[in-house]
Amino acid sequence: MTAAVIDGKAFAATLRTRVGELAAEFEAKAGRKAGLAVVLVGEDPASQVYVRSKGKSTLEAGMNSFEHKLPADTSEADLLAMVYALNADPAVDGILVQLPLPRHIDEQKVIAAINPDKDVDGFHVTNAGRLAVGQPGFVPCTPLGCLMLLQDRLGDLSGLNAVVIGRSNIVGKPMAQLLIAQSCTVTVAHSRTQDLADVVRRADIVVAAVGRPEMVKGDWIKPGATVIDVGINRVPGAAEGKTRLVGDVDYASAAAVAGAITPVPGGVGPMTIAVLLRNALVAAYRNAGLDLAADAV
Ligand code: NDP
Repeated sequence: MTAAVIDGKAFAATLRTRVGELAAEFEAKAGRKAGLAVVLVGEDPASQVYVRSKGKSTLEAGMNSFEHKLPADTSEADLLAMVYALNADPAVDGILVQLPLPRHIDEQKVIAAINPDKDVDGFHVTNAGRLAVGQPGFVPCTPLGCLMLLQDRLGDLSGLNAVVIGRSNIVGKPMAQLLIAQSCTVTVAHSRTQDLADVVRRADIVVAAVGRPEMVKGDWIKPGATVIDVGINRVPGAAEGKTRLVGDVDYASAAAVAGAITPVPGGVGPMTIAVLLRNALVAAYRNAGLDLAADAV
């Protein structure tokens, strides 16, 4: 068997177009554009790339992008003051503080300062709690993107066995919550899990969010299973001095067994920014008191 390739890039492009249409409708109804503020502290090269790309995508979707670049030695108090100012700014619907922050700043304190109704990353404990108890809130972008890909591929997920490898607050835990809400039978594996290969072999759905290049092998996969590879790992490339991106799943061997699989790159990666735009749009509708159908985007 050769797995179907789940094209996250194409799905993300469609989602972004839909967000753009709804952003235009929002502007017509609210008399202003939806707005997303992104705060970057310091000069981490990867973070700079992400922030630039988020800003560009926000503008392309017809929303305002407010970029705030602060020096690496910005004090925690000054960053908190900026978050409070963005909380109070009616032109700002969503606030994203790019992580990681410099070590002298307490990340949890900064996340806690964001108004949960503008927390488009879904990292605030209020939003984690809302997800856990099934109330509307904001769900972290990467796992929500994974769920969208799964539902697009499989339709109703109820009753399926899902194994999530990884228990981070950003990916693994919210992914597990989303799958529970879809009535999957969910197992969360992590670095202390025994016989991981055996655990994974029971799964109809495997979500790998580990950060270990090509750890999940094809002979761990149940034939026909759907495999979502969240991992983004840079490894040495074929040519000297070159690198290439691989996931947490050994793609070639897994694709020979799985029913469907996301590639790296071009699978989960493009979904993250598309879902961020979606979350910002939803925030705008909610903050403006306008209705947006639950299945609109
Ligand atoms: P974390 O490092 O926060 O979490 C990794 C998880 O994997 C932990 O729960 C850890 O277990 C578990 N783990 C580590 N080693 C093993 C092992 N040998 N067997 C089983 N479990 C193990 O990572 P993130 O959740 O932030 O990210 C995971 C991956 O996803 C990374 O490659 C990251 O680059 C990528 N990523 C991709 C995104 C995208 O847009 N596509 C967005 C976010 C992340 P324990 O808790 O016991 O330590």
